[in-house]
Amino acid sequence: MSSERPPPRGGGGEGSPAPAQLLVLSAPSGAGKTTLARLFVERTPGAFFSVSATTRAPRGRERDGVDYHFLSPERFQALVDQGDFAEWAEVHGRRYGTLRATVEETRRMGGVAVFDIDVQGGAQIQARWPSDAVTVLILPPTPAELERRLRGRSTDSDEAIRGRLAAARSEVAAGAARYDYVIMNERLEDALARLEAISRAERAHRGGGGDAGDAAAAASCRRSRVDLSAWLG
Ligand code: ADP
Ligand code: 5GP
Repeated sequence: MSSERPPPRGGGGEGSPAPAQLLVLSAPSGAGKTTLARLFVERTPGAFFSVSATTRAPRGRERDGVDYHFLSPERFQALVDQGDFAEWAEVHGRRYGTLRATVEETRRMGGVAVFDIDVQGGAQIQARWPSDAVTVLILPPTPAELERRLRGRSTDSDEAIRGRLAAARSEVAAGAARYDYVIMNERLEDALARLEAISRAERAHRGGGGDAGDAAAAASCRRSRVDLSAWLG
């Protein structure tokens, strides 16, 4: 089981590797995180997805080694025992984990690793690698809009949708307490532009220089600057 990734490009200048960034994206299910993450990786040189391991079964057209490493509970436990996970968590009764090799390789080679993981896992990455991790909570503008997107996606039963809406509020409260940034995914293009600005501004901050527009856009997404009353009120 290995992590496949393109060679890092850009951001570091000739001969020097691009600085590593562990870009953690968390969101309640249906917020648009997968859509955003896919577009971000397509458009960002040197960015790649971290492929997590999970004990859940593949859904639809998901492929082993591409969407997830699909493991038996016994194999997952063996990796836990060997210390092969950077973080792992139980979500909706199944286990999910990020391979330590993915984080270590990114820190060695540079580039942007994008993690689609829950807030429990994101908090662990943030605590272990505080200078490389950038944590971003993605939210639809309101819980009602989340419900509309979940229903529009037509992949979940009524009962599953109710469960996801209840889980969303606790995920938001946990993320709002510790994540660096919050992006309201109202218009997809705006949300993507903000995510790109955050990633560039954070890399520039570490490497020196940077664009004032990116810095301002990123600052406006700092969690203390975003109105979360629709979610937490
Ligand atoms: P997640 O990965 O967070 O569960 P998805 O990326 O599957 O969410 O998005 C959930 C649904 O919402 C999809 O049908 C997607 O096309 C739609 N969606 C994503 N972003 C937006 C947006 N900004 N406005 C309207 N619909 C969106
Ligand atoms: P799904 O089963 O819908 O693909 O994912 C369910 C949840 O598990 C999502 O919130 C997703 O972000 C989270 N998840 C996926 N991979 C990981 C992982 O490696 N670690 C953690 N902590 N959560 C993960």
